This record gives sequence, structure tokens and C-alpha cells, in this order.
Amino acid sequence: MRVSELLIPTLREVPAEAEVVSHQLLLRAGFIRKVAAGVYTFLPLAQRVLLKIVAIIREEMNREGGQEIMMPIVQPAELWLRSGRWDVYGPELFRLNDRHDRAFCLSPTHEEMVTALVAGEVRSYKQLPLLLYQIQNKYRDERRPRFGLLRGREFIMKDLYSFHRDERELDITYRAMYNAYARIFTRMGLGFRAVEADTGAIGGSASHEFMVLADSGEAVVVYCPDEACGYAANEEKADSLFAPESRGHEGRLELVATPGMRTVDEVTGFLGVSANQLIKTLLYRTERGLVAALIRGDREVNEVKLQNHLGVLNLELAGAEAVEAVTGSPVGFSGPVGLSVPMVVDREVEVIKAGVTGANKADAHYLNVCPGRDFPVEDVADIRLAAAGDPCPRCGQPLQSVRGIEVGQVFKLGEKYSRVMEAFYLDEQGAKLPMVMGTYGIGVSRSMAAAVEQNHDAEGIIWPPSIAPYHAAVLPVNNQDAEQVAAARRVYEAITAAGLEAVLDDRPERPGVKFKDADLIGYPVRVTAGRHTAEGLLEVRCRKTGESLLVNEDEVVAAVKRLIKK
Ligand code: ATP
Ligand code: MG
Repeated sequence: MRVSELLIPTLREVPAEAEVVSHQLLLRAGFIRKVAAGVYTFLPLAQRVLLKIVAIIREEMNREGGQEIMMPIVQPAELWLRSGRWDVYGPELFRLNDRHDRAFCLSPTHEEMVTALVAGEVRSYKQLPLLLYQIQNKYRDERRPRFGLLRGREFIMKDLYSFHRDERELDITYRAMYNAYARIFTRMGLGFRAVEADTGAIGGSASHEFMVLADSGEAVVVYCPDEACGYAANEEKADSLFAPESRGHEGRLELVATPGMRTVDEVTGFLGVSANQLIKTLLYRTERGLVAALIRGDREVNEVKLQNHLGVLNLELAGAEAVEAVTGSPVGFSGPVGLSVPMVVDREVEVIKAGVTGANKADAHYLNVCPGRDFPVEDVADIRLAAAGDPCPRCGQPLQSVRGIEVGQVFKLGEKYSRVMEAFYLDEQGAKLPMVMGTYGIGVSRSMAAAVEQNHDAEGIIWPPSIAPYHAAVLPVNNQDAEQVAAARRVYEAITAAGLEAVLDDRPERPGVKFKDADLIGYPVRVTAGRHTAEGLLEVRCRKTGESLLVNEDEVVAAVKRLIKK
């Protein structure tokens, strides 16, 4: 393709609204344009990258026996009412009514629809396992659409659903999908890590997330540095070794004045106690009313664990008004002594002997608080957020943490959807049994952005060759020089004839502009016909390493091939 004919609207300025590098570069390099918050148009270069990602995914899904289908994006509310998710999904679900006032939604995912399909079409064990997948748009009215393609409200997903006779058969497919995902992200040139993930909200027995490691990632991964151990989990799911140490000696409960001391730092500094003696009392609002979570002063609550433990759909920190109403004191002075809401006590709090807590009075705390003696300890659970430095739950070594972008997730669903959508099969004995299911997603558009997060420099994007929009850009330095123009055209044609993809930058622009654009867009290789063209030599340059060589015109194709293999 000639660049003069392509729609590649590059920008010189960094767009103000773009906070992360992938968002900035995809806008600047002319890949995407925003239509509304979290809704983007993919311009020609982006569409080429997406199609390459899709081709890799499709190949690997087909290899594992996946059959591609295409289900509707518009889904009737009845399906979602049957599974109970019409209410559970909450405001993230895009809802609409048709002209007859019947309720529909735009699909955020397809468990309901695919299970209803299979329930109607599959009867016998002989038809299982069945693996169905699709690649299409998904819709989620995210609370905070941001970071460009990383968290959109309309985005592209590959979703595969597997149906099985039993857990054992599901295990085999789960493993196969896990391995296929590893191949997919490797082929895309991404540095990733598969980590244990929470299964709470959908309710399943095992799950892994594939995380692209990047500072801009919204997820935190906790992992053991010992490779032989290999423990790695999403922070939401991660455990750490629990070594019960009781702290302090029992003493008499004592009320002390702590004027204006609200935060952990203020209270510990003022009273001269350590943060691990402090018992924080956090009040959460749920659909079952207020709940207090008690956690050590040096820890944070893992809200996913707390929510799973309580089995509630909504969990949100209570506002100042609610806190005052139930404790009778301003925020910062809540405590469990005399508190009349249900309490979840973290297992590290249970073993404290002489704790410090808010006194449910303004400007006052209690000393020598003894769980079980001074407040009831009925509901003990692990509700703390694991953090770097904690002992690994498997081997005890200090854990480390990194940020990651979740690009894919595999999930053992079990029978949750097959039971409610009545996806049953008959086994050899004629017994009617619910199918056992798995669900496996990849964020296609998010993966494209994740690739940019990992592969860029100050000049622009550096596409991994397997998903680059084109392998090479060919450009004559001087558009007025007939020899350079002719050589560039010949080389462009030779590269294309060799089955590679190239653009010819034939624009009447200054060389600096063409070089800058090529670097910004991130073609893996740039071929330049410049002042050595008269001697039959062209410059071939690798975008990633900066390596540059002068080669004979008839060796350019071989050089390009070599560089895109790097
Ligand atoms: P997240 O925790 O990031 O919100 P999720 O767990 O809700 O994601 P899944 O339901 O597992 O996401 O969806 C499968 C894949 O779809 C994810 O692994 C991710 O790559 C992608 N994805 C999910 N939400 C978005 C979004 N808002 N924008 C772009 N991609 C998304
Ligand atoms: Mg997920």
C-alpha cells in the first residue's frame, strides 16, 4: 500500500486525555479515534493488528477442537432473568427496550445464551465434549472506562465455552486451554504470567488469569521469587502463610483520649504503639445491611475475599453518615467494643491479646482490647490483602508483587449455568445429568493495547512482528530523486512478492517527517533509499534494536526477513 493513499492520521502532540502510553501512542500513531468514553473506532492500521491477533487466536482455538460460531449481541432479558444475573450484573449491563417495550441487553458475556443453545441442541454423552467459541464485540458500562482500549465499554473478546460430562473431562480441556493461551500470548510476543484467580463472583472451582506485566496494569500480581515453587496469584485471590502470633499481654480495658487522632499513623504515633497492635474497624454497606470488618492496623482488607466470605452481591465502604449513625462517633474512632453490627474478624486480629481500637466516641480509643473478652468473635476469616514481603503460602519465602494487565482468563464453571439453563445430557445408562462447563476469555482489543504498553520507546510503538500492521515501511529520502523513488518502488514490490507486508511512503514530505512517522507507527523494519542508492545500496533498519545496515538492493528481502524473526 502507498502511504499517500492510506488513512493514517498521525498526531504530533500527545493527546491530553490519554493517561497511559498505549492510549497516547495508539491515538498519535493514527490507530484509533475516540467516539465516546470507552468507545473507539479502529482505523486501518489497528484493524490489521486486530485481524492478526484474531488469526492467532482462531488457529489455536481450532487446534484444540474449538468450533467457531457467532451469537447475537442483543440478548433478551429472559435469559438473564433465568440465571439471576439480570439483577446481579447491575449498572454494568447496557439495557434497552424494543418498540414493544420488551427488555434486552447488549452482551457483556455469553454464558446464558450459549448454555441455552446447547441445552436445546445437545442430548447425549456422545456429543460431548463440545467447545464453542466466537470473536466479537462485548459491552460493559464500566464504572471507570479509561486507559483507551485497556478498559473500554465496547471491546472485542474471544469467548469459548466448553461442555463436558464430568469434572475429569473438564480438567483436560481446562489444561488444553491454559496451554493454548500460553501459546497465543507467546506468539503475540507478549511477556506474561499465568496466575491463580478468584472464582467468587461467578462461582467456579478454579481459574487462572493471564497477566501482561506492565506498570500501567490495574491488577496486582503476588508471586514467589523461587521458581521451583512458582506460586503466583492475583492479589484478589492471593493467600499468605498464617503464622499465629499472639501479641501483647492481657490487661484491663482502658479508655484514653486521642484528640483528633484518626489515622493509623496518628494513633500509633500518639499512643506509642505499633500498627500491628491496632485493630481497624471498617464498616461496609451490603444488601444485607452494614457489616464491620476487623483487620490489623498494618494490613488492608481484601474486599473480594470479604465479599466471597459474606456471599453478598454488593459491598462498599459505608459513608461517614452511616458510620456516625451506627457507632455514634465520627469516622476514625470506630471500634468493635459495644458495636451492634455483624463483625467479620480477620484471623490475625483474633490472636491479638492487647489491642488498640477506636472507642466509638469522638477523640477516644481503647487500650488492652482483648478479642473474645471485650467483643464477640464469632465470624473469623482470612480477609486480608496479601502484600509483597508476606511469606509465600506454599514455601514461606517472602512474596514479591508486580502490576499486570489481565488479557485472558480461564475458568472452571462447574454446573452453575447448566443447572439453571437446564443443559442436561443422558449418560450411557440413560441418567439425566447436568453438563459441566468451562469458560475462557481473551481481551482482543485489550491485548493490542497491552502489546503497546510492553513494546514502545520515546519515539513510538515497536510492534512484535507477528502482530505488526505491516512488516516494513519503504521510503525514498528524496521524492524528487528519480533513482531513489524507483529503487524504493522495486524494493517494495520485491518485499510484497516475497509474501511480506509493506507500505511505500511515497508522500511528498520531508524525510524527517517520514522517519518520525515510521518510528511512531512502529513498523518492525524500515528500508530507506537514500544517498547510497546510486551505488545500489539501501539502508535496512530494525525498529527494535536500532541496528542498521547497508545492503545490496537484491539482498533487502533477505535482510527484512532476518530482522522480523528477531
Ligand atoms: P477486569 O477484571 O479487567 O474488569 P473481567 O475479569 O471482568 O476483567 P472477563 O469477564 O474475564 O473480564 O473477560 C475476559 C477478558 O476480556 C478479560 O481477560 C479482558 O482481557 C477482557 N476485558 C474485560 N473487560 C474489558 C474491558 N472493559 N475493556 C477491554 N477488555 C476487557
Ligand atoms: Mg477476569
